[in-house]
This record gives sequence, structure tokens and C-alpha cells, in this order.
Amino acid sequence: MAIEIRQFPVLSDNYAFLVRDQGSGLVATIDTPDADAIAREVEASGWGRLDFILNTHWHPDHAGGNAALKARFGCEIVGPAEVEKIAPLDRVVSGGETLSFGDTTLKVLPTPGHTLGHIAYWSEADAVAFVGDTLFAMGCGRLFEGTAEQMWKSLQSLAALPDATRVYCAHEYTASNARFALSVDADAQVKARAEAVFAARERGEPTVPTTIALEKATNPFLRAPSLVSSATPAEAFGQVRAAKDGFKG
Ligand code: ZN
Ligand code: FE
Repeated sequence: MAIEIRQFPVLSDNYAFLVRDQGSGLVATIDTPDADAIAREVEASGWGRLDFILNTHWHPDHAGGNAALKARFGCEIVGPAEVEKIAPLDRVVSGGETLSFGDTTLKVLPTPGHTLGHIAYWSEADAVAFVGDTLFAMGCGRLFEGTAEQMWKSLQSLAALPDATRVYCAHEYTASNARFALSVDADAQVKARAEAVFAARERGEPTVPTTIALEKATNPFLRAPSLVSSATPAEAFGQVRAAKDGFKG
């Protein structure tokens, strides 16, 4: 048995994800950007229950709906300790753990950089990863708390997942990421993808999920060592990240 995923846009540019284990019928939400929207989707899906909240990091557009959804559905909240800055957890994880619900197994991956406690959830069997604000389609999260060294290592651990892994990023930032990518990378595949992204967004289509293969080929942050000359790959990444922070496009 596999999982079923419902992805829907919430807030200004977040995605919410409901994940159902088909064998057991258990349902999890990855993060809680908008409690009302998630509760409505739980009803609209006909799944009728929410058993788990799986947080990636503490930011309010990821954990802000925890308390309201717990009050409504009585779900168990799992996440990194930093989430307790805004709401209590039932189970603290930090990376390295394996979570099971029904037939579904999620590996918790430590992915510090955007925040220090940031984690991702990966199902090898289902070939999916929920990466929060670490890896974006053609982009990556800002370094609010961690160093370039930490984020580079986190991105490398995601890049090491199987090529076909579908990557569920938490924001639709891809058009802006593509404009930046074009400014630093003349690669033909990058250009072709950027055009496909602009066209998809014109049609109002999501560009998430992406895949590990596509990101390795076209993401300027993963490609940083080949785009700028620097002593180490992490330093090259840091330079590209700083350029994006100052990019007006
Ligand atoms: Zn964030
Ligand atoms: Fe976010």
C-alpha cells in the first residue's frame, strides 16, 4: 500500500500537504500554515480525520496552525524542539528517527540552515520527500539561523536521495527563483526549465513537486560550485545565496 498526497495552496505562497496512508486510513499534515484551510481540506477529501502533524521547523507559516488543528482533531504533533517556541509538541525529533504510520515509513532527515532545527521527512518506498524551506524548485531557503556550511550540507543530503524522489517544497517561489537562476547560469537546461516554469505559472499551475534529478540539473544552489570559483563548495554556495539575497528581479 502506498500513500496519497493532497497538495493545495494556502496563505500568499505556501503549499499545504495532507498525506494519507492508504492501508490504515491514517492522515498526516506536513506543517500547519493555515489551520482553517487544512481543516476544510480534511473534510473535502472525505478522509475525515487528522492523526498527525509533522512539522519541519518553527516558523509561523509552518507551525502556526498546530494548536487549532490539535484542538479540532486531537492529532499527535511531531517536530523539532524549536517548534515549542510557538506551540507544544507531543514528540520531539531531531533527525535520524524513523516514523511509522500504518504501512508508511518516514525517515526524519536533519536539514539545518534555514533554521537550526529544520528537518525533512522522506519516504523511500513512496519516493517522496517533504523538505519544508530547505530545498525549493530552482531555489533554497534563506539562511535565517544557520551557516552556509550547514545549509550546503543539508542540501547535499537531499541531493543524495534517489533521482526520482518527488520533492514537496513548502512555497511556490519558482518563477522568482528561475529569474535569479537565469542571471547566474547560462546552461541550456536551466533556460528551458525557466521557460517551462514561467509558462506553468501563467496557466496558474503549481511547479511543486519537483524531483531530485531536476534540481541537480537546474538548481543554481546545487550547481554553485560550477558557477562561481571558490575555495570550497560550501563557500561557492554561500556566494550564490548572498547574490540571491540581493537579487532584484
Ligand atoms: Zn521558514
Ligand atoms: Fe516558510
